[in-house]
Amino acid sequence: MRKKIVAGNWKMNKTPSEAVELVNMLKPLCANEDVDVVFCVPAIDIIPAMEAAKGSNIAIGAENMYYEESGAYTGEISPAMLVDAGVKYVVLGHSERREYFAETNETVNKKMLKAFEHGITPIMCCGETLEQREQGVTMDFIRQQVKVGFLNVTADQAKTAVIAYEPIWAIGTGKTATTEQAQEVCAEIRKCIAEIYDDATAAAIRIQYGGSVNAKTAPDLFAQADIDGGLVGGASLKADFGQIVNYNK
Ligand code: PGA
Repeated sequence: MRKKIVAGNWKMNKTPSEAVELVNMLKPLCANEDVDVVFCVPAIDIIPAMEAAKGSNIAIGAENMYYEESGAYTGEISPAMLVDAGVKYVVLGHSERREYFAETNETVNKKMLKAFEHGITPIMCCGETLEQREQGVTMDFIRQQVKVGFLNVTADQAKTAVIAYEPIWAIGTGKTATTEQAQEVCAEIRKCIAEIYDDATAAAIRIQYGGSVNAKTAPDLFAQADIDGGLVGGASLKADFGQIVNYNK
């Protein structure tokens, strides 16, 4: 049985002092032994959030990182910096990074390989636009994202990875994919992993749904056979996140 993983994606929200407040507020609400709970926070919030989360079940993750070890890359954060700060998870290839910061399947792949090399679990995002869904090319597009994203990743590494399926049209729009739509694509992603690797890898990898997940929609979504939790934006900044983490209670 795969353990569910519910991750908050704070995006560009919360100053360091606000981050401490939010972690302190959510800490008691997010206790759930059945679920891995991750707060993916802005780089500058990682250390204070980590301090505030000490002694709780909350792991602190990053929202991005660079694929080089160190050097002349002004403004970037290296994997070693994240590891030294205690980071265990990193979101890679979020659609906002693909859209506004020119991330491609190839740069996402480089980051994936680096994350594994440093023992950080990647949460690799994929998902189609509304136009792609309407044209019926959703699965071709996502298969490409997954195939290139996992290039040269070993089966043992892939087993530990997290994929977040986030239809772009559902992010921040209040428009959640129906449970059927979400389950259908997550099942296809698992099939794609089985094709690249094998059934054991496909059975081990965790696949989240993301896109306007809230306390109301989470229980149904997370009950689907191929949905192993969620990547949550807007609702991760509110007390609702505690309800989402405790979707099974
Ligand atoms: P949302 O964001 O929950 O606000 O739609 C999800 C995400 O982008 O990870």
